[in-house]
Amino acid sequence: MTRAIISLNSGSSSIKFGLYTLGPDGPRHVAGGKLEGIGTSPRILIRSDEGEVLLEKQWMDGAGLTHEPLLDELYDWAATHLNRHEVVAVGHRVVHGGSRFWTPQRVDAALLGELDAFCSLAPLHQPHNLAAIREIARKSPHLLQIACFDTGFHHAMPAIASHLALPRTLSDRGFRRYGFHGLSYEYIALRLRELDPILAQGRVLAAHLGNGASMCAMRGGVSIDTTMGFTALDGLMMGTRTGSIDPGVVVHLQLQEGFSAGEVESLLYRQSGLLGVSGVSSDMRALHASADPHAAEAIELFVWSAARQASALIGSLEGLDGIIFTAGIGENDPIIRAAICARLAWAGVRLDEGANVSGADVISRSDSDVTVRVIPTDEERMIAMHTSNLLEHEQGTDS
Ligand code: ADP
Repeated sequence: MTRAIISLNSGSSSIKFGLYTLGPDGPRHVAGGKLEGIGTSPRILIRSDEGEVLLEKQWMDGAGLTHEPLLDELYDWAATHLNRHEVVAVGHRVVHGGSRFWTPQRVDAALLGELDAFCSLAPLHQPHNLAAIREIARKSPHLLQIACFDTGFHHAMPAIASHLALPRTLSDRGFRRYGFHGLSYEYIALRLRELDPILAQGRVLAAHLGNGASMCAMRGGVSIDTTMGFTALDGLMMGTRTGSIDPGVVVHLQLQEGFSAGEVESLLYRQSGLLGVSGVSSDMRALHASADPHAAEAIELFVWSAARQASALIGSLEGLDGIIFTAGIGENDPIIRAAICARLAWAGVRLDEGANVSGADVISRSDSDVTVRVIPTDEERMIAMHTSNLLEHEQGTDS
């Protein structure tokens, strides 16, 4: 019986997943998709590796459906679809591993207890990541589950890039910059080595622009700086998150405006960013479609924030050889890519407008000092690779 694994990336309103069989060349993708609209209008689409639609379903009146019953249905579908295979593990994206965990870990009750402590550091993700692990454990108590951390790729950042200018008593307790979207950046680094090995050796700025948005400065495929920090709130303006703001705003809101800690958390994570500035939507497509001037202002601020953060990372890299755009906006939105690149002309970025609009892989002009590429990310594959590697390693050490 061929062995198989399932990758799960469980977020606040969506669950992305992939099904893989394990062979001598590592994980082979057989099917995958996304369950989205959790809490509003849940819908699921699963396709085979060949692009055939295997399941498409929308839950009418599904606003009350929580993650657990939807995940149950998805997991049951996956188990049925893989019934000729032996499902040996489920790999999960776990956003925060704190200062103790960065390499993929076999999950047990003790680990789950430790990871619970980081829920307040990633309230949009960590509770859902861990709830998915618990739900699978309830359904299949003996199935191996592996936690793959978004912080892992940035673990080796230079000490100076991970330090926060706080008193040592706090930095010694783990108050530092961790960085996130690590599974995405690790995949991008891997793909870039295949697509353009020379550029992969250089100074590359990877821009993961989705609902959550961040950038990573890579030298030789290794993270040397990134825009997110202690939490996934720092850096770029995002769908509903502020990105970097003067921390004095928080102090003032609490001391003078009577905001509770919970209200501040909700403001910074859920009510700000594109949604807060536009008053229209957190979704970039909706903002492009809107005639509201606040929607245009939100887009302008998003671009400004991205270019400003990019410029800081170019400083960390001491120059720039390449930019990689990825995730929902980065992969699909030529207007945003062009606007960010225009603000980086000072760094030698020259975009090929035609290539950008037509969805080409390389979107910079031949006379550009900086190669600009679009690479679709695949966090689920990265989770599958880590899960498979850990299985192989454990087998190796068992024998
Ligand atoms: P998540 O962080 O939830 O994984 P995604 O990577 O799916 O987010 O990105 C979601 C964002 O991508 C939304 O703002 C959405 O509007 C945007 N997006 C997706 N497709 C397109 C498109 N074709 N054009 C412009 N924006 C898009």
